[in-house]
Amino acid sequence: MPDNQTIVDLLIRSYHGCDQPAKAVALITQHYPTIQDIAASPNCVIFARILAANNRISKAISVLHERIALKPDDINARKSMAVQLGRQGRVSEVEAILPAEPAAGNPALLSVLARAALHRDDASQCLAYAEMMGALQTSPEAAHRFRKSALRLQAELEAESNSSASDINVIAILGISFCGSTMLSSVLGALDGCENLSESHAITKYRRAARESGEFDFDNGKVEDLVPCSSCGSNCEVFDFEFRKALQADPTNRLLKICKHIGCKTVITADKTEIRVVDPLQRYKAVILFKTPYNAFCSFYKRQKRWLKSDTVEGSINAFLTVYKRAYSSFLNEHAPKEGRVFMHWDSFVTDQADHLEILCKELDLVFDKDVLTSRPDPQHTFGGNGPVRKAAKESEGTVKITRKAISTSEQDLFNRLADQDEDLQILYQQLMDQYRETFGRM
Ligand SMILES: [Zn+2]
Repeated sequence: MPDNQTIVDLLIRSYHGCDQPAKAVALITQHYPTIQDIAASPNCVIFARILAANNRISKAISVLHERIALKPDDINARKSMAVQLGRQGRVSEVEAILPAEPAAGNPALLSVLARAALHRDDASQCLAYAEMMGALQTSPEAAHRFRKSALRLQAELEAESNSSASDINVIAILGISFCGSTMLSSVLGALDGCENLSESHAITKYRRAARESGEFDFDNGKVEDLVPCSSCGSNCEVFDFEFRKALQADPTNRLLKICKHIGCKTVITADKTEIRVVDPLQRYKAVILFKTPYNAFCSFYKRQKRWLKSDTVEGSINAFLTVYKRAYSSFLNEHAPKEGRVFMHWDSFVTDQADHLEILCKELDLVFDKDVLTSRPDPQHTFGGNGPVRKAAKESEGTVKITRKAISTSEQDLFNRLADQDEDLQILYQQLMDQYRETFGRM
């Protein structure tokens, strides 16, 4: 006859297995009230996995941390913790908690370890993990991706060791789609001595309307299928075809080459999540731009058909929250720009633009000029970015004006309910706001 605890544990696992995660989490919380209680259970690793799968990764990590303190030889707890740390972007902590030969046969762990190797600029170690992933044949795309990243990192490291120190100043705006980056890059790009590129990764890519996607085929592709310059169209007078072709053929020191080509010392990019492809060595100062989750969702939802592949509102909200958490956890914990970073809350910037811009300029060593908020007359040779935002800014003669399309009350209620239940989101947003206040404290 099984005891009560065994029956409860079986029930938790059944609910989880039968796709009733909320019931599984409620039972864990009810029968194991403290982190220590969960950590002491023989089913601790499974419980941590259930918690993590239900928007409680931080709690799962605390449980596993406690478990490892209690039973240092629990290899499964260590492996599980490494995977969860990876999901929060905390890859620099991963290697220290794993035993010597941890990852053989485990694609999830190999992926986290490959990211940890990239994080400390160790191209050959990343390559070794990519080879192990390739041999498993379970995730060939991921193996290919890490191999490519490792080789690119290797090339950048070699190029850097052969060149003298540069005096260019790169300011990279990071965030998710529709975070306000097109507008902010245009504002900063209008400051004295600055050039705005917007999405610099797009300089060598197919435009969205083209039949192909990704990197442009410079030997066979039609020039009108390249991402156009926002000022000149397909044939940009600044970034000509031959320059773009050469940039793709050898992407090392990409931003340095662009700076030299246009003869400026400070470039603004809004490459967001693509920045590590543009510069794997992270030689920039980052502005991490974020909206409140609700406002960020409204911006996404307007373009739902293109971005959120779900038929239901709840599905769209969950898809959005996954994107938001993954990106900002990674910016918060995994990105380590060599010149530092500033967190800026877009919603606060919008309500108090001049004061925010003044502080931001100070942080970025730029010459403050509040006029760029209302007038940006010079053409900027930019690529990608949010077209409607550019058009609206032009029509309002440069003024930063924000129009937000409201969603229905029932959609808003559903969003608030799901967001309130998402512990990881609450913790993450708090961390982002803490970082923002550290810089813009008197706002
Ligand atoms: Zn142009």
